[in-house]
Amino acid sequence: MTTTSATSSSSDELLLPYDEAVQRFDPVLGLEVHVELSTATKMFCGCGTAFGAEPNTQVCPVCLGLPGALPVVNEAAVESAIRIGLALHCDITPWGRFARKNYFYPDMPKNFQTSQYDEPIATNGYLDVELDDGTTYRVAIERAHMEEDTGKSLHVGGSTGRIHGAEYSLVDYNRAGIPLIEIVTKPLTGAGERAPEVARAYVATLRDLLRALGVSDVRMEQGSLRCDANVSLRERRDDDQDAVPLGTRTETKNVNSLRSVERAVRYEICRQGARLVAGDVIVQETRHWHEDSGLTTSGRVKSDAEDYRYFPEPDLVPVAPDAAWVEHLRTTLPEPPAQRRRRLQQDWGFTDLEMRDLVNAGATELVEDTVAAGASPAAARKWWSGELARRANAEGQELASLPVTAEQVAQLAGLVESGRINDTIARQVLDGVLAGEGSPEEVVTARGLEVVSDDGALGAAIDRAIEANPDVAEKIRGGKVAAAGALIGAVMKEMRGQADAGRVRELVLERLT
Ligand SMILES: [Zn+2]
Repeated sequence: MTTTSATSSSSDELLLPYDEAVQRFDPVLGLEVHVELSTATKMFCGCGTAFGAEPNTQVCPVCLGLPGALPVVNEAAVESAIRIGLALHCDITPWGRFARKNYFYPDMPKNFQTSQYDEPIATNGYLDVELDDGTTYRVAIERAHMEEDTGKSLHVGGSTGRIHGAEYSLVDYNRAGIPLIEIVTKPLTGAGERAPEVARAYVATLRDLLRALGVSDVRMEQGSLRCDANVSLRERRDDDQDAVPLGTRTETKNVNSLRSVERAVRYEICRQGARLVAGDVIVQETRHWHEDSGLTTSGRVKSDAEDYRYFPEPDLVPVAPDAAWVEHLRTTLPEPPAQRRRRLQQDWGFTDLEMRDLVNAGATELVEDTVAAGASPAAARKWWSGELARRANAEGQELASLPVTAEQVAQLAGLVESGRINDTIARQVLDGVLAGEGSPEEVVTARGLEVVSDDGALGAAIDRAIEANPDVAEKIRGGKVAAAGALIGAVMKEMRGQADAGRVRELVLERLT
């Protein structure tokens, strides 16, 4: 690979306003998604794959590339690769070899990466993605191929965490050899101003699909699903847009959240637009995405991928999946997530918007589990896409990684439904559950959080509220029932939210009308 170092550009990069950029240019995308498979062992050896283990504790002569070590293909990884290919409507190759992709990186102990080159396991498929406006964009898939992940370097002593300026570097080979599937789209044209949304929707749809297949834990924040976004712009022409040649593309590497995928594509459209308008040329290069500042900076200039010297891997037998096995795998594919969503939406009676919010929050399965645990669909939706989504957001966490189970949310909803607690108390109960104090029942008991609906206890508080607000009481006596809200509010405040508001209202009106 030929690389030359390029100076880092910074935030003083000129940007064309987005609307103007997409008016003058037609954005073309190419998305490459790397998926770490959640197999128990690595791609070519028996080492474990647990995330976050002590550095270099999950390694052996094979994944360290020691002389004489012989790799063996992990059948579970091949099966996952075929299932992914089938779910993406691809052709599955009847016979394909692995290849050595030669390049030097300190985090690649063998000095080559075992990958697939001209004989990928799956080719020529598509994935339909639904956009926010309800329309569908068909993403054409070029190929999906199997490879292995590299290790991880940690550069210590510098201010940026990059190798430049670091005092020394550490390498962890636990990740080296973890099975990866790389899914590559064809150039995606015709998305126009919706290109950033298409990019996000594609990665989101792919993530849902991979999750439904159970082949990966698809945690973008842990790097088990990573997206490289290629963006180029071409002149807009009124007549035959497809005849316009593609522009030079840049590749923004390792974008690791859905939101960032959309932002990074949008940024590149604005940046390249400004360059082109100024008469500059776009340099083919990889770029880094900076989550905090929302911009990309130049990585390395890349002349072409063909600089990697590929040659067939002599140590591995070809992958030749039996046709009957492939057909068996085809018949056992899960219901496609989009179809499943439509079915669930109908069962639950949610509006399109409600359903989309759930999906965007990654809450579909959680709601399904919560309904299965006894909650009504409306209550399950309310908690997961309301209070819990808000808390997950505030902590920058995925909804599913909050320390609360579907059963607990169902129990919480049940407590509200039965009137034992109200919404205000429920939020306090949730605090306790999230803090590890136990189930909602246990938190209610331990914290003494039950709703007070005992008329005697409420009566005294109501008397005090009437006494403190004589003018309001007078209005109610005069027939202005709507004024009761002020008294109910005063009672609720005195009871610190722990009263049955409905019962308070009844008692207030009983006394004054
Ligand atoms: Zn190993």
